[in-house]
Amino acid sequence: MDKLVSLCKRRGFIFQSSEIYGGLNGCWDYGPLGVELLNNIKQAWWQAMTYREDIEGIDASILMHPKVWEASGHVENFTDPMVDCKECKARFRADQIEEMLCGSPAYKGRKASRCAEEGKFTEARQFNLMFKTFIGPVENSGAVVYLRPETAQGIYVNFLNVVSASRQKIPFGIAQIGKAFRNEINTKNFLFRTREFEQMEMQFFVKPGTDEKWFEYWRSERLQWFLNLWMVKEKLRFQRHEGKHLAHYAKDAYDIEFGFPFGFGEIEGIHNRTDYDLSRHQKYSGKNLTYFDEESKERYTPYIIETSAGASRSLMAFLVNAYVEEEAPTAEGKMEARTVLRLHPSLAPIKAAFFPLVNRDGMPEIARKIEQDIRPKFKVFYDDSGAVGRRYRRQDEAGTPFCFTIDSQTLQDQTVTVRDRDSMRQERISVDKILSYLQGQFR
Ligand code: ATP
Repeated sequence: MDKLVSLCKRRGFIFQSSEIYGGLNGCWDYGPLGVELLNNIKQAWWQAMTYREDIEGIDASILMHPKVWEASGHVENFTDPMVDCKECKARFRADQIEEMLCGSPAYKGRKASRCAEEGKFTEARQFNLMFKTFIGPVENSGAVVYLRPETAQGIYVNFLNVVSASRQKIPFGIAQIGKAFRNEINTKNFLFRTREFEQMEMQFFVKPGTDEKWFEYWRSERLQWFLNLWMVKEKLRFQRHEGKHLAHYAKDAYDIEFGFPFGFGEIEGIHNRTDYDLSRHQKYSGKNLTYFDEESKERYTPYIIETSAGASRSLMAFLVNAYVEEEAPTAEGKMEARTVLRLHPSLAPIKAAFFPLVNRDGMPEIARKIEQDIRPKFKVFYDDSGAVGRRYRRQDEAGTPFCFTIDSQTLQDQTVTVRDRDSMRQERISVDKILSYLQGQFR
């Protein structure tokens, strides 16, 4: 993890939020490469989920009517148990003490569970994770609103609007990508548990009785999405919610977990939420949220199959999955260590880099011209500094799948070398084929 975190900072994937002021706990900023990677992940998800006939996209506001969170159960139940250490004053999530270390510098590396055994902790209190703020100039209880802790509620409250605007018929889904905020008691593991993050959620509305079939369908679709983007099969697993881990409203639930360096952790949840959400909003809003099924001539409250992924958590998983250190031959035939991000080409922040082999004989001008022709179509990079081997290594670390080098042969026959990031194989292609070559790779 340490190596990945340092690469992320050095290469401009992730920075600490407000770093020049000492940082803000649980908040991170995406740098030039990070924002491209994040956008590419979101785009891959958006395309897989909404470029189909039975799913519509929306983008609901972050601030919502406060009653939404009463109806959803968040005001009452969206809590974690919190304990304080009476000695060092550190604060912990009571159900995660096993994973935590004591907060006192005097006991560096000591497990928090030992402090618990020694009776140093207070009784657990429930702490609501929603961030509160006020709408308008007066900070009184009537003006309280919350930063949404999940995007799903924006979908439920727009169910009727989408049905009537899109004329979708059940079964169909509504998808949304957006920021969510949780005042987590302990943030940890880089982007894994943060206070501000992004979710990619889809709610699929189905006829009761067909829910189990659709649940299985989405479970397999969502796993396949990660596999299609080159996640290693052995690093993914399903974890079923059982016993007290199954939410009271859920009929069934699985997490897709990824094997991080610190252990397996959830990156997406697939839940059969029954008719809980629409029934609750119907009760609290007084609006009829049932659906008339013209085919079966029945009126019912749809069941919901939810797929809820973290964009930022997935980004971290994609980075861990792609990070490789290996020995690779240099131009002189020696072996040298290289770090490479083997990201799926469609996720790679930069799609292609262009290098003049040397800064003379007209090579930089030709390289610039090619780069400028390609730039409107793809995110590309031009680099003429240092030995070409070093330029390759820099692009390997950024995950750039293709590097094009303009050399003396280019001057003679208008061909360039294209080097593949993963195999490091090089082939010559003609300059006028570069665009179609790239288009073929990113179809
Ligand atoms: P956890 O048990 O880890 O707190 P959760 O079960 O509460 O997570 P969900 O409410 O199912 O998580 O959220 C759906 C997805 O949103 C998660 O799979 C995860 O990818 C992402 N997510 C949730 N909380 C955070 C967070 N604090 N930081 C980053 N991503 C998060």
